[in-house]
Amino acid sequence: MLQKLLIANRGEIACRIMRTARQMGIRTVAVYSAADANAQHVKLADESVYIGPAPSSESYLVIDKIIAAAQATGADAIHPGYGFLSENERFAEACAKHGLIFVGPPIPAIAAMGSKSAAKAIMSDAEVPLVPGYHGDDQDLDTLRAEAEKIGFPVLLKAAYGGGGKGMRVVNHSGEFTEALQSAKREAQAAFSNDKMLLEKYLGNPRHVEIQVFCDQHGNAVYLSERDCSVQRRHQKVIEEAPAPSISEFTRKAMGEAAVRAAQAINYEGAGTVEFLLDTNSKFYFMEMNTRLQVEHPVTELITGQDLVQWQLLVASGEPLPLAQEQIQLNGHAFEARIYAEDPAHEFLPSTGPLTVLRTPELSAHVRIDSGVIEGDEVSAYYDPMIAKLIVWGSNRTGALRRLVTALNDFRVAGVRTNVDFLRSIANHPQFQRAELSTRFIERHEQDLFADTSALEDDYATMAALAELVQSQQSQQAWFANPGLQLNQPAQFTLTLQHDGQPYSVTLTAHGDGWQRLPDQRVWRASWQHDRFRIHCNERSFFAHVLAAAGDITVMTEVASIRLQRYDVLLELQHEQATGGMVAPMNGTVVAVLVANGDEVAEGQPLLVMEAMKMEYTIRASHAGTVEQIFYESGELVSDGAELVRLSASA
Ligand code: ADP
Repeated sequence: MLQKLLIANRGEIACRIMRTARQMGIRTVAVYSAADANAQHVKLADESVYIGPAPSSESYLVIDKIIAAAQATGADAIHPGYGFLSENERFAEACAKHGLIFVGPPIPAIAAMGSKSAAKAIMSDAEVPLVPGYHGDDQDLDTLRAEAEKIGFPVLLKAAYGGGGKGMRVVNHSGEFTEALQSAKREAQAAFSNDKMLLEKYLGNPRHVEIQVFCDQHGNAVYLSERDCSVQRRHQKVIEEAPAPSISEFTRKAMGEAAVRAAQAINYEGAGTVEFLLDTNSKFYFMEMNTRLQVEHPVTELITGQDLVQWQLLVASGEPLPLAQEQIQLNGHAFEARIYAEDPAHEFLPSTGPLTVLRTPELSAHVRIDSGVIEGDEVSAYYDPMIAKLIVWGSNRTGALRRLVTALNDFRVAGVRTNVDFLRSIANHPQFQRAELSTRFIERHEQDLFADTSALEDDYATMAALAELVQSQQSQQAWFANPGLQLNQPAQFTLTLQHDGQPYSVTLTAHGDGWQRLPDQRVWRASWQHDRFRIHCNERSFFAHVLAAAGDITVMTEVASIRLQRYDVLLELQHEQATGGMVAPMNGTVVAVLVANGDEVAEGQPLLVMEAMKMEYTIRASHAGTVEQIFYESGELVSDGAELVRLSASA
């Protein structure tokens, strides 16, 4: 059995692996970058080693530094988690070369699945069904275009060495092909240092169903049910569940067996996931095999009662699989929701900053949270902005879903924007409740999921003012105890907020035992109850959380969570300086400048492409005009809010 395990990762997955290692009596070593000196995974580990500056290319992705850390601490094995070096065959080779156990499959298996194109060839030989497409070596633009025409639009461009939805573009007609190819190649090059592309027929309305497989070193192979990960944004999973709803036993078994065949075709060992697209007529097609633990593995753990990290560590130690196929029992239903620091209303842009408030639902046998951060920690621009995974179990899908909604209601985060409301809108959506799933779920129900909350903003601003008032009354007992103050003229309380850089005041005027915000006739009251406010508005009452930070106030009810900006003169100045042109939505790097000084551009025309957190963002012209100045060149770093391009005033 392993003695000491180094975890070549950070965040929730590093913490999750350490928990199991500890239960198994294995000592743990964390590695960390300059940005993570105080991170939870470092605190949880028995030992830790600093491996370099914040950018992952200088720390978590540097093979030599990780190997040196393992040697310095006497670790005998390395668990790569997911992302980073988890599917990097050179890393697995380096481990082998230095006598370290790589907790993952043998090197040739990683190599075989490392390229999506090569994987397809192997799967085709193993009689695993494939999506029609092109996965050849010839990467010439004309060849690719001709192949796309042959497949027929819409076509999906995919980075052969890609993952996480990066380097992927849907091309609806041939006119879009060149631009989409270039952009996908750039993103793939930046994220995976390889811009090889493959083409697939873009299926209309499929589900993403994946099979968890496990193999040991003794030739045993099993599948542990499947997961439905259809709900995706930008081809990235948002809510996953197990087992996949409304699949016949016949299809389930056929997919499971095809997945085991796929694993055996490459002499697999350890945990792997075979991803399929499932068509509306129950036909399934191999997409790719991930040769590592998946982010969403906990849903499988909750319905099988197994600890998959424990299985990984047992297999890596040369033990046989704990269970045979017929011993694997499924029980109930599980969901995972990924809580991200991001802004769903603005194309899911990551939102970085301090987690001034982070309160999570109560844990129980049926509610699990895997997280790598606590209140006060920072969501940095260097890594994936995931805050936590919320995983719930129920004896059936309906029960599990109810538990998911309740737990989402209990998630309270301030300091960064989050997708919690968005997740709740999905969970509450009638089609989701009826398990009418497809990878285009979010796109199809956009209208419902991105509910416009601007109509609510006034009432939430009133609640924010009420909350401040209650707090100031509590801290100014003297003022409060002197009712004489209110004798002649009604007391007033004003809170100044801003919207789109413009200040506006919320003024409450005393009215009986409550307050009014004129000219509205409604009477509001608020009282502090335990950890939240009970708000009364005329005859109704409900609960609200009001989370105040330096620059903003977040008001959360069961209906919505709205973040209001306090008015701040300094901020306004910055805003004025920034609105003269197109500004960077976040810290990042300029990867392409698409226009030149003096160019005439149309409204919405792409001007510049920047990359942040390995995703590309296109900066478009806010109005038609002439390019007056371009402030950055390709390759330069830009900070959040920096002006990128200046256009002449709109005509
Ligand atoms: P990645 O490795 O980047 O996650 P995948 O190949 O696993 O990429 O695909 C991610 C998602 O993209 C799938 O779950 C699915 O929603 C969508 N997708 C992939 N291939 C196709 C296709 N041929 N047709 C329609 N959707 C697809």
